[in-house]
Amino acid sequence: MSEAPHLTFDLVSPGVSMGHLFVPGGADCGELSLPVFSLNKGEGPRLLVTRGNHGNELEGPLVARQLIEWLPEAPTGGRVIVLPVLNPLAVEAWSRNTPLDGLNLNRVFPGRADGSVTERIGDAVSRVLLAMADTVFDLHSFGPTWDFPPAATTHPIADRDLMARTVRMAEAFKLPLALVWDCNDTAGMFDILAQNQGKVFVCAEFGGGTVGADNLAIYEAGVRNELIALGLLEGQAEYPTFRQEKSGQTLETHPSDELKSPAPGIFEPGCSVLDEVKQGDLLGILHPMESLSSESIDIRAPGRSLVVAIRSGAHVEMNEGIAIVARPLKI
Ligand SMILES: [Zn+2]
Repeated sequence: MSEAPHLTFDLVSPGVSMGHLFVPGGADCGELSLPVFSLNKGEGPRLLVTRGNHGNELEGPLVARQLIEWLPEAPTGGRVIVLPVLNPLAVEAWSRNTPLDGLNLNRVFPGRADGSVTERIGDAVSRVLLAMADTVFDLHSFGPTWDFPPAATTHPIADRDLMARTVRMAEAFKLPLALVWDCNDTAGMFDILAQNQGKVFVCAEFGGGTVGADNLAIYEAGVRNELIALGLLEGQAEYPTFRQEKSGQTLETHPSDELKSPAPGIFEPGCSVLDEVKQGDLLGILHPMESLSSESIDIRAPGRSLVVAIRSGAHVEMNEGIAIVARPLKI
């Protein structure tokens, strides 16, 4: 029987320590060693920061490296554990899913000890690292085919107290958008597992797909704001600048707020993220390409709302999402 997942070092040691999370090998590949950083300044909140869940979202791993650089010198308390790359096989392939087994790591939690490599990573993270934290930040990007503003997101949580604390933590990132995202595709997500254990879990998202200095600066400022809000870091939280503005808003979106393509084709965006729209405003135009006699189709806002995501840069199939709208959160 193979060795159980474990850390190769003692996280309880005071100050900075580094080592690896050992993920056992299986039938499909050998063991993995995921680098882990720990800063232990004694009593206080216990934060786990994870990145590189999806391999084509590279801002998170870069901000994790920056955090590891400056955090030890900063006035801090409590404990911060950073795992910059959750899924090295996907990151090396710049792929959302693990090439070896085709699985999306963020749909396999809590994983399986005797499963394929993605499931074994999920199992090791769930059993070894999650138990050591009260709060988790998982830094994603929205990927290359959508425009999406810097956002801190959560799904709705049945426990009202945990929901309120999670929304407060999402707002404390001070990103342009804090979003409560009600969607149907949540089975096996890391946040659902953590929230079911009573932990505060906030996911950060970004549109784009290429790494840029502006986005990285906003992301890093958001993480710094979170550390301040948790009492892990001294300092003044501040809204980072996004499109010449320093502000944030808290919105909610539901499955019915996702607009689907009425035909296959290329979507031409007609608005920008965070635009306010009213019923009938143009969101974009879908251009069918297989026949030039098929007319282009206007996609219009279903009601008063804000645009939070807009499809860009990819051919879409019929019924694929092309825009997501949202409204101010009502708790
Ligand atoms: Zn992701």
